[in-house]
Amino acid sequence: YWLVYFLLLCLIAAGIVYYYNTRHDLQKMLVVGCKKNEFIPYYQPIMSLDDKLQGVEVLVRWKLSDGSLLLPAYFIEVAEQMEVINEITITLVKKVQADFRRYSSNYNRKVFCAFNLTAQQIENKSFINLLILTLKKEENFVPSFEITERQHFNNLALAKANIRRLQEQGYQVKLDDAGTGYGGFSYFMDFNLDGVKIDKMFIDVIGVDDVKVEVLNSIIMMAKRLGIDIVAEGVETQQQVDFLRKHNIDYIQGYYYSKPVPFKDLNFDN
Ligand code: C2E
Ligand code: CA
Ligand code: CA
Ligand code: CA
Repeated sequence: YWLVYFLLLCLIAAGIVYYYNTRHDLQKMLVVGCKKNEFIPYYQPIMSLDDKLQGVEVLVRWKLSDGSLLLPAYFIEVAEQMEVINEITITLVKKVQADFRRYSSNYNRKVFCAFNLTAQQIENKSFINLLILTLKKEENFVPSFEITERQHFNNLALAKANIRRLQEQGYQVKLDDAGTGYGGFSYFMDFNLDGVKIDKMFIDVIGVDDVKVEVLNSIIMMAKRLGIDIVAEGVETQQQVDFLRKHNIDYIQGYYYSKPVPFKDLNFDN
């Protein structure tokens, strides 16, 4: 038995070493990728209930030197714990504004453009300063922000003040991944957010799990009582769209309408 225990311990140790090595490699690759300017924006349409494109969400993609695109699932968690996430966000803001300028003949009305921010970024005063400085006011380009509920806030007062500063610039701030985090809805009361994005997890249960739909119903009810916008993400089926229409939520986003695409492939006609 000693031998079995010993071998098991060796295996676990090897696993831990392997994990930290790959993590360390990824950290180094992220820094290099940042220097080489390899992070690019993709855009997913956000529709109103009358099937009109009202906004887009900016979703980062890592364009490797061989031309392949890496999804956030492979790197964003590690990036979010490093300084590079700030560089990535600022790079995206610049590239997004360049896209809106370059293709401005593709559209002739205001569309909002939502960037993802981490809890740490919202608590970082100098980052928010840089963000506000980088964003240029332009016609038909309306920046907004999504802050995820998945991460802890360490300094609620500072987060609140920075959210306020973004709102004073005329930028909306919404709670992302609503229902999945630690905070529940306590944030709403305190942060005075403009809206809530219901996570795909709660959209998936429509027509599938009646008990979990009750949770979805309560999120919708709460947001309505607060009078803030409701966005549903990860909407894939007609049944889900019908349900969300019935509940008169504000915006729908998901593969039902479109996957994330490069700016030139966005369709502003409807
Ligand atoms: P998220 O903010 O919850 O974004 C929604 C994710 O769901 C996106 O995945 C989107 O492509 C995907 N999605 C949208 N509609 C559907 C659908 O109908 N079906 C399915 N199966 N998926 C759908 P993506 O682009 O892979 O991004 C994953 C996560 O990475 C995002 O989740 C967000 O947390 C993070 N992320 C993306 N861009 C950024 C960024 O610039 N900064 C930070 N900090 N995080 C980012
Ligand atoms: Ca988001
Ligand atoms: Ca989500
Ligand atoms: Ca509304």
